[in-house]
Amino acid sequence: MNHASTQVGQGFASMIDAVRRIGAEVAARHAADVDDRARFPAETVTALREARLLSAAVPEELGGAGCGMVELAQLCAALAQSCGSSGMVLAMHYIQLACLARHARESRFFRGYLREVVEQQYLLASMTSEVGTYGDMRSSICAVERDGARAVLKKDATTGSYCAHADAILATARRDRDAAASDQVLVLARREDFKLATTTSWDTLGMRGTCSPGFRLEWAGREDHIVPGSFADSSAQTMVPYSHVLWSSVWWGIAADAAARAANYVRGQARQAPGTVPPTATRLAELSAQLQAMRHNWLATAQAFDAIDSDPSSQEELLGMGWALRLNNLKVACSEAAPQIVHRALQIVGILGYKNDSPFSLGRQYRDALSASLMISNDRIAAKSASLLLVLKDAP
Ligand SMILES: Cc1cc2nc3c(=O)[nH]c(=O)nc-3n(C[C@H](O)[C@H](O)[C@H](O)COP(=O)(O)OP(=O)(O)OC[C@H]3O[C@@H](n4cnc5c(N)ncnc54)[C@H](O)[C@@H]3O)c2cc1C
Repeated sequence: MNHASTQVGQGFASMIDAVRRIGAEVAARHAADVDDRARFPAETVTALREARLLSAAVPEELGGAGCGMVELAQLCAALAQSCGSSGMVLAMHYIQLACLARHARESRFFRGYLREVVEQQYLLASMTSEVGTYGDMRSSICAVERDGARAVLKKDATTGSYCAHADAILATARRDRDAAASDQVLVLARREDFKLATTTSWDTLGMRGTCSPGFRLEWAGREDHIVPGSFADSSAQTMVPYSHVLWSSVWWGIAADAAARAANYVRGQARQAPGTVPPTATRLAELSAQLQAMRHNWLATAQAFDAIDSDPSSQEELLGMGWALRLNNLKVACSEAAPQIVHRALQIVGILGYKNDSPFSLGRQYRDALSASLMISNDRIAAKSASLLLVLKDAP
């Protein structure tokens, strides 16, 4: 294989350095404009593509970097410190890649497709939401219709991040016309096989650069572009763990950006009165403790996931109630912590954080962080955890 078309041997240290550089030199430079105009962070994604970072989640045997959960989370967190939307786009892309890498590897078509992702640095989007399912990712109304080796799908999604900019979309659907709402599969819709019509706008408080309006998808492709097995398994073993860990790392990145701005502000105050500790420094210390706890939460979960993943006999653990509860707790805790941390940073910085045109401005971080509790509603997650806790005796 042409070495230029693989990522094997690209060490993680050079990858995280590249993401930090792209964050500082590209994403941060365009973040305000991306937010202002609710436009796709195209420059950042181009830079990620050029640095061959879009295939970090592809296994080494297929030419990718084979990054585990801890590494992917660190890459997303690093980028989110410069632009929350860019960090979230990268996280959502890695989540889709992980679903293919972990559940479709036995398929000849998907092995070839994953190699193509490495060569072409494709960007993958997700379409789990649907008009009429009210935020329940585990049920679909739309269904795949098969005709021999061909298949078609029409889906009306409420929200589809950067679908208009993606090379492919992974969409959930009922397995066939007669299947129950929860009997779902994942369909890989490649750009050349789908038509997309925008159905709603994306003029939101935050995460404006994710460009996530509603879309009507019409796909006609080959039957072997449907991920083998059931979405129930890929959801529990991959989509949910990757989503909750990588999203949490992105929210931490946004909070860390706010904390860094507050810290700069406090240091500036200290320089103005040498030999004294400004009162805001105490608030900064409290904020730093909360930020650290948040980081430990997603990092520990990512490490636990990688440990399970490295042991083939432990895979069933990912389907257990204890693990589901742990992930729910992580999502709820981090999505609540992020806006709290940004809020505390704002109290430290004061009016300069409230202004949109100051170097200490915190408006974008605040608005971005507010999406966290809505992105799969915390109430919906808490209701599931409540049911689990009725039967689960050993809390994680
Ligand atoms: C930034 C961002 C990017 C996104 N990107 C994508 C994407 O790329 N692809 C995609 O498919 N989707 C995407 N989504 C949508 C996401 O997957 C969810 O579908 C969506 O956030 C849920 O919308 P909802 O609030 O209408 O749903 P619901 O979960 O139905 O919530 C509606 C209301 O009902 C309440 N509620 C729900 N269940 C319960 C319960 N059991 N108990 C009490 N109250 C309850 C909630 O609190 C809320 O007030 C994105 C969302 C965001 C915010």
